[in-house]
Amino acid sequence: MMDLSLNNISTNHSSQTKYVKMVILGSGPAGLSAALYAARANLQPVVITGMELGGQVSLTHTIENYPGFPEGVGGQELVDLFQKQAERFGAIVEYDTATDVDLKERPFRIKTYNSEYLADTLIIATGAQATQLDVPGEKELTGRGVSYCATCDGWFFKDKDVVVVGGGDSAIEESLFLTRYAKSITIIHRRDSLRAGIILQQRAFNHPKIKFIWDSVITEIIGEETVKKVNIKNLQTNEVSELITDGIFIFIGHIPSTQIFSNSLDLDEHGYIKTDNLLSTNVPGVYVAGEAGDPDFRQVITSAGMGAAAAMQAIRFLQAHEENQPVPIKS
Ligand SMILES: Cc1cc2nc3c(=O)[nH]c(=O)nc-3n(C[C@H](O)[C@H](O)[C@H](O)COP(=O)(O)OP(=O)(O)OC[C@H]3O[C@@H](n4cnc5c(N)ncnc54)[C@H](O)[C@@H]3O)c2cc1C
Repeated sequence: MMDLSLNNISTNHSSQTKYVKMVILGSGPAGLSAALYAARANLQPVVITGMELGGQVSLTHTIENYPGFPEGVGGQELVDLFQKQAERFGAIVEYDTATDVDLKERPFRIKTYNSEYLADTLIIATGAQATQLDVPGEKELTGRGVSYCATCDGWFFKDKDVVVVGGGDSAIEESLFLTRYAKSITIIHRRDSLRAGIILQQRAFNHPKIKFIWDSVITEIIGEETVKKVNIKNLQTNEVSELITDGIFIFIGHIPSTQIFSNSLDLDEHGYIKTDNLLSTNVPGVYVAGEAGDPDFRQVITSAGMGAAAAMQAIRFLQAHEENQPVPIKS
C-alpha cells in the first residue's frame, strides 16, 4: 500500500511558511469532498476555507436533491457533515483565504491572509457566485422565494406564478425548465430583445406559460416569510408598477472565483479554469473541482463528485512522483 503520509505539517522553509502535501482552496462541497478523499490517503490536506465557510450550500435552506437524505437536509447541516467526515480522517481546516499563488514550480506557493504554504499539489475548489440584483429584499428572501437555480428550486413552485430576470441563454433555458412546474413565468428583461440563442428565443416566445416584460428592472422584492410581489421599473418611462408573484429566479450571470489564478492558469472567456476531462489544469499537479471549472452542472452532487475525482488524480500524481515514475495521468 502506498505511503503518502507526512510526519506532520512542517515549517522548515520559514517560520511562516508551512510545507504540506496538498492544499485545497475552498470549503464548499468540492473542497470538502476532495479533503475527505485526500485525508483517507493519509495526506493531511489543508483546506483553506475562504470567506464563505461551507460555500454556496451554506446559504441554502434545504437541499432536496442530494442522495441519501430522502426528507431533504439543511444546507448548513450538509456541509457541517462534510467537514466532520473529512476532519475525522485528518483533514486540517484553516479559516483563511488565499490571496495569491505562484504555480511556476513545485512545491506551489500559496499565500493567505495569515500564512504561506508550500504544497506538492493544489486543488482549486473556489466555486462561483451568482450575480445578484442588489435590490432591497433580495438577501433577506434568498431561499424563501428568491432563487438562482431552477434545477434546485423549481420543484417548490408547482402551480405557482414566478418571475425570471435575465435575457441570456441561462435565463431562457431555466425559464423553459420552470414550465414543468410553474403555472406562469414572467421574464423581465432590461432590454427590448433577448440575448439568448434564436432557437431558445423561439421556444420561449411560443410557450403558452411564458410572457415577457421588456425594458424593465426589478427595484424591490417584497415579502415576509416568502416572496409576495416585486416592484418593476420601466426604463423607458420610469414608471414603477407592482407584480404579485410567488418567486423570483435571477439569471443575470455567474462569476467563478478564479481571479487570483488568472496569471498562472488557463481560464476560458468567462473566467472558468480550463481543465481536461480528468480535471487537470495546464499546470501538472494543479486540479480543479466544482464550479470554479464547471459552467454546466453547478450542483452539490456534481461538485462533490469532482472534488473526489480531483483528489484521486492528485493522489496518483503524488504517488507517481514519489515513486519517481512517469505520471500516469494527462496533465
Ligand atoms: C441559494 C442557493 C441554493 C442552491 N440550492 C442547491 C440545491 O438545492 N441543490 C444543489 O445541488 N445545488 C444547489 N445550489 C448550488 C450548489 O450550492 C453549488 O453547486 C455548490 O455549492 C458548488 O460547490 P463548490 O464547492 O464548487 O463551490 P462553492 O459552494 O461556491 O464554494 C466555494 C468555496 O471556495 C471558497 N473560496 C473562494 N475564494 C477563495 C479563496 N481565494 N481562498 C480560499 N477559499 C476560497 C469559498 O469561501 C467557498 O468555501 C444552490 C446554490 C445557491 C447559491
